[in-house]
Amino acid sequence: MATLTLENVRKRFAGQDVLNGIDLALEDGELLVLLGPSGCGKSTLLNLIAGLDTVSGGAIRIDGRLMNDVPPKDRDVAMVFQSYALYPNMTVARNIGFGLEMRGVPRAERAAAVQRVAGMLQIDHLLDRKPAQLSGGQRQRVAMGRAIIRNPRIFLFDEPLSNLDAKLRVDMRTEIKRLHQRLGATIVYVTHDQSEAMTLATRIAVLKDGVIQQVDPPQRVYEEPANIYVAGFIGAPP
Ligand code: ADP
Ligand code: MG
Repeated sequence: MATLTLENVRKRFAGQDVLNGIDLALEDGELLVLLGPSGCGKSTLLNLIAGLDTVSGGAIRIDGRLMNDVPPKDRDVAMVFQSYALYPNMTVARNIGFGLEMRGVPRAERAAAVQRVAGMLQIDHLLDRKPAQLSGGQRQRVAMGRAIIRNPRIFLFDEPLSNLDAKLRVDMRTEIKRLHQRLGATIVYVTHDQSEAMTLATRIAVLKDGVIQQVDPPQRVYEEPANIYVAGFIGAPP
């Protein structure tokens, strides 16, 4: 059974259709990249999966269970935002451990989990700092740590690298790939960056105007684009 399924998912804002019947099925351990230009509905789709917004039609299921009316905290998903969304007044350690703190996990157990995750992300030397004392790349690692520590069924990444400079963006790709393999995580990863999609994805879903154009492994999307739009968006420049 697929981990996450979307069946004819629709979203309309003020009479405007933003998602026009999305069908997708994510297998366990897959890193699916949702690729498309700015404004095509990528963040809207992630928000629906996370439960931060409600669908106008269709069904979202996790492990077969209908999620449409399940509140965000009861969905087994963790989102990593482009803007990091860290708590500015908390240390790195508390930012990472905050989800466990809310669940009432005891202090010692929490500290051990924070150490383990921070070690994995190579930020264990930064645990006492506040977010303002970190670089962009370090902040993004903290944001990922906060998601990883919750051990969710599904990770949702919304353009996590787009605020980083070019060199760091490429380094972090490697990091994300490594984490994906190490955790065996199931990930929906949103980007407008074709080369990021080609490097990271097990499959790419190309989105245009709220309609999925093609879902295939990177090589296949590149070599056998489903239509002229996909060819133009992801293919080699003429
Ligand atoms: P992407 O993440 O691909 O750049 P979004 O999902 O953020 O695109 O937005 C898709 C479209 O939906 C845009 O036209 C945007 O203006 C519109 N939109 C997104 N959120 C809202 C909202 N809360 N209210 C009205 N329109 C919205
Ligand atoms: Mg977006």
